[in-house]
Amino acid sequence: MGMIAISLQSGSSGNCIYVETGGKKLLFDAGITGTQTEERLAAHGRDVRAVDAVIISHDHSDHIRHAGVLQRKYGLPVYVTPATFAAASARCALGKMPDVRHFRSHDKLQFGGVLVHAIPTPHDGVDGSAFVIEACGKRLGIMTDLGHVFKDLVRLVASLDAVFLESNYDPDMLARGPYPAYLKQRIKGPRGHISNQEAAQVLLCASGENRLQWACLAHLSEQNNHPDVAIRTHREVMSEKLTLYVADRYRASGVLTVV
Ligand SMILES: [Zn+2]
Ligand SMILES: [Zn+2]
Repeated sequence: MGMIAISLQSGSSGNCIYVETGGKKLLFDAGITGTQTEERLAAHGRDVRAVDAVIISHDHSDHIRHAGVLQRKYGLPVYVTPATFAAASARCALGKMPDVRHFRSHDKLQFGGVLVHAIPTPHDGVDGSAFVIEACGKRLGIMTDLGHVFKDLVRLVASLDAVFLESNYDPDMLARGPYPAYLKQRIKGPRGHISNQEAAQVLLCASGENRLQWACLAHLSEQNNHPDVAIRTHREVMSEKLTLYVADRYRASGVLTVV
């Protein structure tokens, strides 16, 4: 028995990843509407009402905006840190949420035999986390909005069987692109996002352990990246070594399995 994961959408217009393992069904982030979540899960034969928990990475609206709807419409408990919830409540209209369950970074959340480790990130959310899901002897990482390649990131990725890894921008496209200077600075700064090159180096170093089965490149920028550019950069750095997928900015992925 392994794990399956489906990216329902990935990027600044909304993030949501479904993971099923050890008899549990988890959603990571709530950045797409309830209807989109329901329909994209249904297209893969899954029922949103059967989800055990919605776990939020950080307070940016592309990750949390629809958490209230998921709770009210489908009765799903939402797991979030107190600081993330406070910041998001002040900014987005989350609406009434009677079943909010708090965790803190470094915590291990337990759902039956499934452990979810919350790992703090240096991204510019107030209290952001990346996640490692561990069950049945397998480990899957959900690692986007990372800020920079922080200490321990390579070691963490090397300890995984599969990973959704941020590969946000191509530095040349960012430099030449239409964003104002302050925004370019934010993205490539230490609390923004990591580039194709940085992500590729992380995977190259981490895949030396020979544990990683695949990486799904995630949270690609629309303006400052393109799936072909991202894949080309990763292939230049890593050759054909590792199976790579790209999470789409508007559609669900196929079912990715960790065996
Ligand atoms: Zn984001
Ligand atoms: Zn963010």
